[in-house]
Amino acid sequence: MADAERELDEVLKDAHLPALVVAMVQLTGDESWLRPEWTPSYSPLDRNDPGIPADEQAKIRELAKAAILARPPGAEAKIPVPDTALLRRMMDFVAGAPIPEGYAPFLLDELALSGSSKDPQFEQPRLKEAARRLKVLVVGAGMSGILTGIRLSQAGVQFEIVEKNPDVGGTWLVNTYPGCRVDNSNHMYSYSFEPNHAWPQHFSPQPELLKYFRGVADKYDLRKHIKFETSVESLPSSSRSAYPGSTASFACAVRSGSPSPWNSTRAARIAFSSRSSRSASAAAIRPASQVLRRR
Ligand SMILES: Cc1cc2nc3c(=O)[nH]c(=O)nc-3n(C[C@H](O)[C@H](O)[C@H](O)COP(=O)(O)OP(=O)(O)OC[C@H]3O[C@@H](n4cnc5c(N)ncnc54)[C@H](O)[C@@H]3O)c2cc1C
Repeated sequence: MADAERELDEVLKDAHLPALVVAMVQLTGDESWLRPEWTPSYSPLDRNDPGIPADEQAKIRELAKAAILARPPGAEAKIPVPDTALLRRMMDFVAGAPIPEGYAPFLLDELALSGSSKDPQFEQPRLKEAARRLKVLVVGAGMSGILTGIRLSQAGVQFEIVEKNPDVGGTWLVNTYPGCRVDNSNHMYSYSFEPNHAWPQHFSPQPELLKYFRGVADKYDLRKHIKFETSVESLPSSSRSAYPGSTASFACAVRSGSPSPWNSTRAARIAFSSRSSRSASAAAIRPASQVLRRR
């Protein structure tokens, strides 16, 4: 127990106190943790200083320690998913000021406490059918391409990702200089639907980011959709857009550094046919076997 307490003291010493206070509201179910005297007042010059007097900071740590130790092992938080009104109060508290109404829905959605509202939900048969008819080419398997692949597969859209590098990760694969890391908090710099509670640091270094993005790509089984070491080399400007209700086809040149099932030469052109509708404006390509032709 002494060891556990010592470890807890160590963790509480570094805790972001406003975040700790709202976590205590969830843990204990007691909203009186949101005390006015504990409201942070941040300084633009020191992001780590919550501007709470030292004696009050000590009180927060002491009470949090007692609340955590009093919790039976494995017990659920008393309020696992706070209602919107309480969440708004908690967010305002952490921000140290009322969050403007316009931001609230976005921030609540990003919290994703009850799942992500951005998962494609195609209830209507017309939309499901439209999704099935599309085939999309995604260029790049960095964080944007990985996300696009996840959403397309959730929407039931066929897709391929073309990536010039030998692995996923984009920015976090190619930048490996000493000290390379994110400059905004990792809890923000990650997918809302794939929170990572094990970031080793607030601003984690490049290897951790690469590990995260590789892990997400593996979890969603994206690698089977990715043609690595394959670059898109040109996309004719006349075929870059497709308009609602139109049908278009276009060719896109790719170069592959390694043999792949659909491209046995080092260079190939893929022809894309796009049939878009108001509800689905993504470019669609015919199956690779039908469209691949040698340069
Ligand atoms: C050192 C560093 C630190 C950064 N820190 C932050 C931060 O703290 N916060 C923040 O918001 N942003 C940060 N950024 C910006 C960062 O680039 C973006 O946050 C994010 O990684 C962009 O992801 P992406 O998938 O859009 O692009 P990328 O990660 O660049 O991925 C694009 C992918 O497309 C592939 N590709 C490109 N062209 C082709 C082609 N023609 N054919 C085939 N494949 C192709 C590339 O190989 C790459 O894998 C940082 C950037 C760097 C370099």
